[in-house]
Amino acid sequence: MIDLEALAARTLVVPADAGDAVAFAADELAAYLGRLFGRVPERRTEEGRPGGAWLGLGTAGAPPALAAGTEYAVHARDDGAVLVGRRPRALLAAVYALLEAAGCRWSPDGREEIPGHGRARRLVSPPDGRPAFARRVWAADLATWHYTVPERLAARLPADVAFVDWMAKTGATGLLFIRHANDTQWHVPELAPELRRRDLAIEGGGHALVELLPRELFAVHPEYFPLGPAGRSDLGNVCVSSSGALAVVRERARAARAALPDASDLHLWGLDLFGGGWCRCEGCAALTPSDQSLAVCNAAADTVDDDGRIFHLAYHDTLAPPTSVRPHPRVWAEFAPRERCYAHAIDDAACPTNARYRAALEAYVACFDGRVDVFEYYGDAILFAGCAVPLAAIVARDLAYYRAAGVQGVSCLVFGRYSLWAYGLNIDTFARGAVSPERAGGVTEAYCARRYGPAAAAMARYLDALARVTAAAVTHGDVLLPPDDTAGADTVRAGLAAALREAPALRRLLGAAAAVSASDAIAPEERLLEYTLAVLGAVHDWLAARTDTAAAERAIAAVLAAGQDVRVLEVAGTWGTYDLELTHHFFAEALRARRR
Ligand SMILES: [Zn+2]
Ligand SMILES: [Zn+2]
Repeated sequence: MIDLEALAARTLVVPADAGDAVAFAADELAAYLGRLFGRVPERRTEEGRPGGAWLGLGTAGAPPALAAGTEYAVHARDDGAVLVGRRPRALLAAVYALLEAAGCRWSPDGREEIPGHGRARRLVSPPDGRPAFARRVWAADLATWHYTVPERLAARLPADVAFVDWMAKTGATGLLFIRHANDTQWHVPELAPELRRRDLAIEGGGHALVELLPRELFAVHPEYFPLGPAGRSDLGNVCVSSSGALAVVRERARAARAALPDASDLHLWGLDLFGGGWCRCEGCAALTPSDQSLAVCNAAADTVDDDGRIFHLAYHDTLAPPTSVRPHPRVWAEFAPRERCYAHAIDDAACPTNARYRAALEAYVACFDGRVDVFEYYGDAILFAGCAVPLAAIVARDLAYYRAAGVQGVSCLVFGRYSLWAYGLNIDTFARGAVSPERAGGVTEAYCARRYGPAAAAMARYLDALARVTAAAVTHGDVLLPPDDTAGADTVRAGLAAALREAPALRRLLGAAAAVSASDAIAPEERLLEYTLAVLGAVHDWLAARTDTAAAERAIAAVLAAGQDVRVLEVAGTWGTYDLELTHHFFAEALRARRR
């Protein structure tokens, strides 16, 4: 055991060569010990000690070596404790794990709880520094920062700074900025100092083939571009049988990595298209979309050094592993099962949908010799149409399965404050589960205590019921794109009808929570529930309308109106304010197109 209260009154030894992130870890340890125990250890730098990512608390002994598979360790000694990390962010994770053991409770919106003197736990066990997954990343689309509109960017950033702080406190390793065809930059420079101060990775790439193969080249080199049914087109990805095209992609991938502050990994994905985009020329015809995507990644792989990786995306038409192209040793697969069923865990044998995804993942693990990460959607406000969808049990079980299947890293897509509001429980559960899946099962109680105070128990009952009710809406991919075939449509419509019958029970449960607590955290939940019920009702009505165009239009209008109702709320963040409406119009058009 480590007596933190006693050590807070002693010394904090910092290596003489401490860089910014090690110094930051020392600052954080000292500051929080001060808040917990009313004493701040005296800072001391000792010459002649080894450098690196370590801190001595009450002791100046040299740090021991880390065991294989360990990111950090806290060694208790007679006279104190030594914290050592494989790199600065791991040392920082050790600091926060120790503080959490003393009773600190972190929060992604900055509302953390630090027990004061007399309430903090003074005797703690050394935390375990062997996380389940080596890469633990949050991902977000660059466009959601609205970086070309200064006031929107400025409105978003404070919440991001709080989120990045929480990322370090919960053991994340980095933030992935996802670039799309319309983007003009690779990351958000305004956030880089916050990430680097904590030694968190700035990951980049995405659906950015237009940047790696500029469309202007089409005029002189149409053969660089994919052959579709109507000839070569600059709308798709690339013709991988063209060595000239691959040479351009390779050089521009090198430049893209150089434009990223960390310049190690690159997520090299095809354009975000549902089918199509790949080439059918004579040379490419025998290659599946997955083979073609992997050929592009392979071409870029020898531009990275031994520490770097190129990520091939397994998604939509590349969900099945490549069949004829073998991955370069520096190419990893990133498995993104977006249209899976979220009503069941991915390994739940009762689910008719997820078996295909599970088989594809396991084939990827074999094909890539275990170099596979998973990209998940537990905070995806587009997939879930902004509806509240608590997935705590699904997230916990998924992560346990992913680890057992040999997946090495996990990431989760989020949309700023909106995701913290509508998917906050999923986000807490993912953060815990990425470090330790077996501890992810019990997150709901702590989450509700932090968010809802005295209404915690009532809110846990509500979220549990809400998870059961909304399951009917998340079996088929995008909530707002229900199945088109008669059997699938009937199943979803019947499920939604049953879900909507639970509306009074859900309102009663929320009312019970509101009665226990005057907390202003409950009122936004009531708005979110009404929005969610409105969307589920509209999807149900759209399915019921069948050939009745007027009824279908009324259902679409109901979705748009519901969005107007929540976008004005502060908790909706910039995504709720600006992006939700665009998303709704996109889906409205997609639904109308189906009926035309
Ligand atoms: Zn081709
Ligand atoms: Zn299912």
